[in-house]
Order: sequence, then structure tokens, then C-alpha cells
Amino acid sequence: MIDLHTHSSASDGTQTPAELVRAGAAAGLEAMAVTDHDTTLGWDEASVTAREVGLVLVPGIEVSCARGHQSLHLLAYLPDRAHPALVAELEQARASRETRLDRMVEGMAADGIPITVASVRAEVEEGATPGRPHIADALVRAGVVGHRDEAFTRWLGDDSPYYVAHYAPDPVRAVEVVRAAGGVPVVAHPLSRTRTGVVGRDLVEELAAAGLAGLEAHHRDHDEAAVRELVDLAGALGLLVTGSSDYHGTGKRNRLGENTTEPEVLAAIEAQATGVAVVRP
Ligand code: AMP
Ligand code: FE
Ligand code: FE
Ligand code: ZN
Repeated sequence: MIDLHTHSSASDGTQTPAELVRAGAAAGLEAMAVTDHDTTLGWDEASVTAREVGLVLVPGIEVSCARGHQSLHLLAYLPDRAHPALVAELEQARASRETRLDRMVEGMAADGIPITVASVRAEVEEGATPGRPHIADALVRAGVVGHRDEAFTRWLGDDSPYYVAHYAPDPVRAVEVVRAAGGVPVVAHPLSRTRTGVVGRDLVEELAAAGLAGLEAHHRDHDEAAVRELVDLAGALGLLVTGSSDYHGTGKRNRLGENTTEPEVLAAIEAQATGVAVVRP
């Protein structure tokens, strides 16, 4: 069982990288990728634990991208985390996420929702990528809602009046930067309707021309028709097909290994990568 999309407390997962990898091993995964939003912060701890528990670890990142109101998440497998262009993009996203989070919280607090910038900051691990889920966590802790889901439905959705965007690179730029860093770019959940705008065929074709490697077809946000459409599109464009859980600990209902990637596909990803090696026990 291979699961190539999971989150730790280095972004908006609820488990530390070590806990996440242990949970992966306990769930029966043979290989897993740690793909925190816009950061490689969890890689070292995850690698140490993977060696301890005898699991294959694929270091990755889920890079937030945007074109106008269209948002896109790009999984980057095995990039060189010291590549200057990649470092610069992640740093810019991080800095922008900090101010954006404060602005969202200030707007909510002004309307009497019982949170403060400090109470939200307290939910973010040192050095981690801050995001809307941390606002949700502060609301759960304040007893205002029972789960992150509810906070998103009430206040945190993309169409909420409190929503503030953060800097994110254009997806074509992101594909080019990930390739330049020796990484292997795969579009995460292209047909998810939980974010603004599904990723259309035209954009996938544009990304494929820029060096895209694959599409994450098997994901809980995709119904059967969506999976079929993506598998067909990947076939037509010569792209790899992956499947993964997008596990966030208790922050989302997604379970480790609920969707998986074929060993041949992981082998192809590894063969294309020149940034950093897969961690083997
Ligand atoms: P941000 O990166 O700050 O724009 O926040 C987006 C993140 O929120 C995504 O990566 C998801 O992990 C998370 N998210 C979106 N919708 C929900 C939801 N309904 N319940 C829990 N987490 C969510
Ligand atoms: Fe997330
Ligand atoms: Fe995502
Ligand atoms: Zn994700």
C-alpha cells in the first residue's frame, strides 16, 4: 500500500511528522509521502521515523498555486529543498500566509466571533505553515464549533466574507520551479469541488506542456465519473495517475491508505526525480 499525500503539524495536519509516519506504518502502508502545504519542515523528523519503523518515505510538498480566482494544489515529489527558486516561492507564500491569516482573524473578531490573533497563532507549530485550519482549531478550542468542518461551513470557505487570499505562484510557474529543483509535479485532487474552481482540461494541457508528471485521480473528493475523466485525460496526455488519502490526522475525515498509488507509478516518479532520494529503511 502506497499513500503519496499526507499532512503533519508542519502544516495543517494534527499529528507530528513522527506520529504521522507511525500512523502510516500502523495502517499498513509500505510507502508514504509527507506533503505539507508549502513547506519541507517535516521531512527530517519523518525520515528518521520512517527508518525506525521500516517504511519507505517520499519527501514532498503540496504547493499552493493560483491563477486569478482559480486555486490549484501541486504535489511536488522529491525536489531539492535548497533550490533557490523553490525556496523563494515557499518563503513568499509563507510570509503572505502570515499576514493573510491575521487579516482573516481580525475581520472575524470584529464581528464578535470569539477568537484572537494570539489564540490562532497558538494552534500553529513553530515554523509551520499557517492556514485556515488553524483558525478552525482555535474555534474548536473556544468551544464555538465541534470540528474543523463546521468552522469551514460557517466562516472559512472560499466564498466567505472573511476569506482573504494569500500569495501563490501561477501553476505553470510552479511546475517549472518544481522541475528545476529536480522534483516531480502532480496536480492534487484536480476535480475537487471543495475549492474555488475545478482544474479544467485546458489548464491541465498547459501544465503538461510545461512539464507536469501526473494527476491525482484517486482521491475522496472525486466521484466515479471524475476518476474516469482524470484517468482518461492522463492517458491522452501521457501523464501518471496517482491515488492518495490527503490525510490530515483528526482535522479531516480522510483515512490513511483509503486511496493508493500503484508501485509502478511510484517507481516512475522516483526515476524522474533528481532533487532528493527516496528514504529507504
Ligand atoms: P488555506 O491553505 O489556509 O487556504 O486552507 C486550506 C486548507 O483547509 C486545505 O488544505 C484543507 O486541508 C483545509 N480544509 C478545507 N476545507 C476543509 C474542511 N471542510 N474541513 C477541514 N479542513 C478543510
Ligand atoms: Fe490541508
Ligand atoms: Fe490540497
Ligand atoms: Zn493536501
